[in-house]
Amino acid sequence: MLFGRGKRNPVKIADKGVVDWKYATCGYCSVGCSLEIGLDKDGKPVSTRGAAGADVNRGKACIKGLFEHELFNSPGRGTYPKMRKSRFDAFERTSWDGALDHMAEEIKRIQLTYGRDAFAVVSTGQLMTEEFYTLGKLTRGVIGTNNYDGNTTLCMASAVSGYKRSFGSDGPPGAYEDFEHTECLMAFGSNLPEQHPIIYWRLKEALEKRKFPVIVVDPRVTMFAQMADIHLAITPGTDLVLLNAMAHVIFHEGLEDQDYIAEHTNKANDFHKVIDEHDPDSASEICGIDADTIRLCARLYANAGAAMSIWTMGINQSTHGSDGVAAINNLNLITGNVGKKGGGGLSITGQCNAMGTREWSSCSGLPGYRSLEIAEHRREMAEFWGIDEGFFPEKRGLTETDIFPAIESGQIKGLWLVATNPMTSMANTARIRKTMEKLEFLVVQDAYEDVETNEYAHLFLPAALWAEKEGVFTNTERRVNYVSKITEPPADAKPDRDIFAALAQRWEQGRKIKFPETAPEIFDEMRTLSKGRLCDISGMSHDKIKKQNGIQWPCPEGQEAGSPRLYEDGAFEHSDGRAKLLALPFNDNNERPENKYPFWLNTGRVVEHFHSRTKTGKLGNLNKFSPTPYMEMNPDAARELGVEHMSYVRLVSKRGDAVVLAQLTQRVPRDMVFIPFHFFDCVNRLTLGLLDPHSRQPAYKQSAVRVEPVDQDEAAQMNVENRTY
Ligand code: SF4
Repeated sequence: MLFGRGKRNPVKIADKGVVDWKYATCGYCSVGCSLEIGLDKDGKPVSTRGAAGADVNRGKACIKGLFEHELFNSPGRGTYPKMRKSRFDAFERTSWDGALDHMAEEIKRIQLTYGRDAFAVVSTGQLMTEEFYTLGKLTRGVIGTNNYDGNTTLCMASAVSGYKRSFGSDGPPGAYEDFEHTECLMAFGSNLPEQHPIIYWRLKEALEKRKFPVIVVDPRVTMFAQMADIHLAITPGTDLVLLNAMAHVIFHEGLEDQDYIAEHTNKANDFHKVIDEHDPDSASEICGIDADTIRLCARLYANAGAAMSIWTMGINQSTHGSDGVAAINNLNLITGNVGKKGGGGLSITGQCNAMGTREWSSCSGLPGYRSLEIAEHRREMAEFWGIDEGFFPEKRGLTETDIFPAIESGQIKGLWLVATNPMTSMANTARIRKTMEKLEFLVVQDAYEDVETNEYAHLFLPAALWAEKEGVFTNTERRVNYVSKITEPPADAKPDRDIFAALAQRWEQGRKIKFPETAPEIFDEMRTLSKGRLCDISGMSHDKIKKQNGIQWPCPEGQEAGSPRLYEDGAFEHSDGRAKLLALPFNDNNERPENKYPFWLNTGRVVEHFHSRTKTGKLGNLNKFSPTPYMEMNPDAARELGVEHMSYVRLVSKRGDAVVLAQLTQRVPRDMVFIPFHFFDCVNRLTLGLLDPHSRQPAYKQSAVRVEPVDQDEAAQMNVENRTY
């Protein structure tokens, strides 16, 4: 008698006729999986698999990575440069020379009429690092606007700011390898299984070999919270209170690492005063976590031989995101965990190359973690590029989230968006729409012509996508990894770095500065510039990176392998070599539920989609599994309002409204609804997005809404019409 699978036909994997596999790093999230793309006998990409020898993913890939080869033939790609007088006219095809001449003329006109900073540039975390460096050279060294930023401000600015304040520099100190050595892991606002599936798999693998406590802090019962040993269902936006209370317990019970604190840190004057004020009992009233549970978690963390913290947007996207990061750093410093194997902090980044833009794009400073505010750094870069040092501003200009209000007020008249889609990704999109309409000149440079923001553009520049060009990405754990050119871009689309270099030729200063043509030549410039910096890549080359399936910086010249973690010697980047223990009082300054708007609106991700679905919304299986926006609502709250499972409702905030399908689930508490943020004309019609004072990152996850009934037939029709793809 046959049991189980023996009775069924064996699973057959279709033969796709792969004759060659080419190496690439995944172009979606920051996990940085090494992939191999299968080509058929005609050189057509037909399959994707995880690269077996790569330490990051060890042969695995998530659903997004597994279908990545389908991107090359996805609909909506930009093929030719196009121009028009106003957004009410139809686009007309033009040549690259025509497009770039016009763009340079418009930038010069705007700068001459309104001032150098009246033209702004907002880029992305999606380009190759060599392209970020080239864009920085063009923007800082040729165009000369100080209003230049990346959309990484929407996701990682608080981590950058918190690291700088605590350690003196940006740079995540830890590595995935630390899961294999830690004795306690605490995760803040991070739903790993859906956001970063392969990091989750690495963690599960470590847990199968050796048990250690996992504490997940999240207002929702996420998939991650469901596997945790302890789930802390925190009140939205109050992580800082929990972290201060944990520090309170650690000091009051004498669990701190006194030697580490004395040798490697400086304390802010009122550090102990703020910690003293956060006793677990009063903290509990604010953050909603039982005082004894706070004590238990503090003891588990402090008594572990090595304890580590990971976090994502639950910390960063908050009005006190930067303080939250600094509080995690405080926790790791007072317990002596920074730089320890299995210990310390690891901010988990969003986009595939958010790190590359942080290191090399010059958005918030100058290349290689140099600062505009430091005269020596301005001098070094001016000399290297061969320009006058006085051309650089002496402090950073506006962030993306301040650029849009500056357009609204008339301070900025022209904008260049590179691979970013603010009409879906910014908070309060109704306001962003009006802002876009005020621009005298908007350039959208993107691989996709049908990106929502292009509706407002005067000029569209078609860019090559991911592995239609070569270069490197840096992942969450500082691993620089290689992407081969696998196929040609469609029609007249060009690699972003070629577009930047060609535009630079339209300025006299741009013709004086060297813009190397190939990615390896650009990488060579970066290697030279990185010598002696924290993000030293002088010991790397494209070939070496490829051979090792990625190398973690710092990797100075002469060093064979990379460095898994930072600050192992306890020497930090502040001028005195010490880390700062910061005093972080809690100001409850966000929108909260009240009578008229009684629900917290929480936002997040689903595993099938990436960001604003520009890419994943086009791919069969990803869109098939997650085709439509939905809202999680607690069944008890739904019963009170007469909302049925899988019925449509209208959500209303002080900004606007959105119609969504209600899914009733105990994953959210009674006073909260949750909506994935990927869909156009949906959750960001409702969000407020107040800014963190240090990082200028928006608080997407804490707004207030009410739920209203809606005509079901009308809503179903709207839902079909609103589905972009
Ligand atoms: Fe790509 Fe991230 Fe999935 Fe890895 S986990 S395959 S990097 S999307």
